[in-house]
Amino acid sequence: MSELYHPSIYRAENHVESYWAESAGPEVEGAAPLSGDQRCEVAVIGGGYTGMSAALHLARDYGVDVRILEAGAPGWGASGRNGGFVGPDSSKLGLEGLIDQFGVEGTRAYYRNGLEAIELVRALGRDEGIDYDAQGEGELGVAHLPSRMDGMADWAKTWSSMIGVPVEVWSRGELAERGYHAPQAFGAYYTHCGFALHPMKYARGLARACIARGVGFHGHSEVLRWERTGGKHRLVTAGGSVTADKVIVATNGFTRDRLHPGIAGTLLPALSNIIVTRPMSEDELAAHGWKTECPIWDTRNLLFYFRMLKGNRFLLGARAATRNTPEATETYRRWLIEQFQAMWPQWRHVDITHFWRGFVCLSAARVPHVGELPDDPGVWHAFAYHGGGVAWATFSGRAVARMIAGNEPAENWLSPVVRTPPRKFPLPWLRLWYLRSAYLWYAIKDRR
Ligand SMILES: Cc1cc2nc3c(=O)[nH]c(=O)nc-3n(C[C@H](O)[C@H](O)[C@H](O)COP(=O)(O)OP(=O)(O)OC[C@H]3O[C@@H](n4cnc5c(N)ncnc54)[C@H](O)[C@@H]3O)c2cc1C
Repeated sequence: MSELYHPSIYRAENHVESYWAESAGPEVEGAAPLSGDQRCEVAVIGGGYTGMSAALHLARDYGVDVRILEAGAPGWGASGRNGGFVGPDSSKLGLEGLIDQFGVEGTRAYYRNGLEAIELVRALGRDEGIDYDAQGEGELGVAHLPSRMDGMADWAKTWSSMIGVPVEVWSRGELAERGYHAPQAFGAYYTHCGFALHPMKYARGLARACIARGVGFHGHSEVLRWERTGGKHRLVTAGGSVTADKVIVATNGFTRDRLHPGIAGTLLPALSNIIVTRPMSEDELAAHGWKTECPIWDTRNLLFYFRMLKGNRFLLGARAATRNTPEATETYRRWLIEQFQAMWPQWRHVDITHFWRGFVCLSAARVPHVGELPDDPGVWHAFAYHGGGVAWATFSGRAVARMIAGNEPAENWLSPVVRTPPRKFPLPWLRLWYLRSAYLWYAIKDRR
């Protein structure tokens, strides 16, 4: 199966030039490339939140001998370059879609797992001494059109009673008092859960915690070949190999179809893009009445997500691009800056200092998948967080660790929403065209 994207997006020698990579402090020590032929009980492919959380929990809580093989430096993938929103959702089905497919109890269990995921990120910060610049309490969803306030109160009531988390609905005036005012902000809902963090500081903190707990972390060690010898798995990199009893695939949006036939064609990586401004003055913030540190998204299907960072730089992110050639990337960068200027006209003059992108990961079922491949026992996976993986990848990594080494059946603590095995997209080579059609449809819907 040919690649969906321009190959430049997989070059992992250096970090993308993100604000996060620039401001995260020193690289992690002790993550040298793999050399020679090594052995372990569990090998993890991918050194993002999923892989690191799985490895950390296996080593720390169950005493398992684990190694991580990561193509770049720790956190090179989406984990080191996301928006830093720590929220409870990781599916694209929405509340109604989840209830239709998994019933009220399955949906409730899914959101309960989402809340546990947020608490797990907080606990790891505390227990492993990771200072990830936590900001804001709760999350804001802003109506980008007046019509998006219709039905918001009903939705908030249902969501809140299902999950047990209070949700407030704010008028445009109330949003201006507590958040900000701007032409495309007509009110909002405010959920009392979630927060924001510095994603690369979190990723490097997890990597250091892994290494401190005895995990073998091999950066710049892409798995190039996967062989079977005597019932074991042999993962081959440019510098050596690891032979393991079990493998965890934690490669999310950066998964290549050639990695494993059971996973090929099941995932759809989608580009998400971010710009960051220079630091703004207090007067500039006042021009849009900016008062909040909460992470914010808007009600577009093709949502924009934004937040004020420490030091008053502003971050805006969005999807909608499906090509990553250098020309398409530049066109999209310009488009995102135009959106920023239209949404916050008083900040038109503010320089954009950073632009970068990465892959979020979608699945055919539009939910994450956590478990063991049914046709290949010993191969575990956790992926497809639909752009909501800061909390969920951390949680899912721990979930896989618990499934491998714990005693309690997963049915008792993991929602059925995420326990379904991944399934192939119909005609997988058409995946990008499915995405383009969806984006077109969303763009039409987002005008009404
Ligand atoms: C721009 C952007 C903004 C986002 N914003 C948010 C947000 O605000 N909130 C939120 O919750 N989520 C957000 N996300 C999604 C979130 O970042 C991801 O869901 C999460 O980081 C997934 O973690 P992961 O460890 O599963 O995957 P990744 O962090 O992507 O890690 C996968 C790793 O696998 C490695 N790999 C792949 N193939 C191989 C191989 N063959 N051998 C060795 N290593 C390999 C890659 O190098 C990569 O580092 C965003 C994503 C992007 C790109």
